[in-house]
Amino acid sequence: MYHHFVPISLHLQAEEFINQLKNLGSKPHACPYCQQTGFYIINAKAGHYRCKNCHKGFNKSTCTPYHRLAPLGWLPLIAEQRLCGKSCTAIRYQLDYCTPSVVKRRVNVIEQQMAKNHPPLYAWYKEFITVRKTAQPIAVMEEAQLLKHWVNSLLQADKVTCPYCQSENVKNIAENRPRMRCQSCWRYFSGLTGSGLENLGYSEYWLTMIDMFIAGETIKAISERLKISHSTVTKARRTWLGIMRQRGLMVLFEWVNS
Ligand SMILES: [Zn+2]
Ligand SMILES: [Zn+2]
Repeated sequence: MYHHFVPISLHLQAEEFINQLKNLGSKPHACPYCQQTGFYIINAKAGHYRCKNCHKGFNKSTCTPYHRLAPLGWLPLIAEQRLCGKSCTAIRYQLDYCTPSVVKRRVNVIEQQMAKNHPPLYAWYKEFITVRKTAQPIAVMEEAQLLKHWVNSLLQADKVTCPYCQSENVKNIAENRPRMRCQSCWRYFSGLTGSGLENLGYSEYWLTMIDMFIAGETIKAISERLKISHSTVTKARRTWLGIMRQRGLMVLFEWVNS
């Protein structure tokens, strides 16, 4: 997913960096203390070894900057999420709600190593992670267009047929959302059935709210500006994230859900 955010010229560096982190979990070549290659496994799952020569215990991260940051499998995950612009809080939710300091400590070491070993990648990242919401990547804008196009066609009730008699001769009788009346059998129905938006209110603000979520505005800011309750905005955010995922707009989903 980070490929959508990292500029193409930095893809190789990003891959190299992530692969180095992934390799931390694999089997070491030698004891990090005495460099002898004779060692045995203590705990295969956690990747713990003991040297036959100096008898010290170690894993692949021992004597590296990533020492004491187990589980090592989290490091590439966290780094990838950061390259997608995710906040530490959003990452925390993906890692079984571990404490914020657990994520922060790993992010700090990851950033130090990126700065040291991949300065151009780090230079881009530093800018991206702080001001990222003001400039949206093309992939985000493209998916936002797809979503808005779909919402517009729903609201304008294009190509709706009557669920009772299948007539295409239907009329929208409401202003802001598709409350339809069939002109053949005269029954009423919602043009939103099956869209996932049936129970979401304030349709006059849907497009505005989508833009605000994309711009990274907080629930509080949106609630104050649109004069809608905090809990309604929270519900709307959850609904839109669900819709994005359901429609396969994963770049947009990752962007908003950070
Ligand atoms: Zn040793
Ligand atoms: Zn009908």
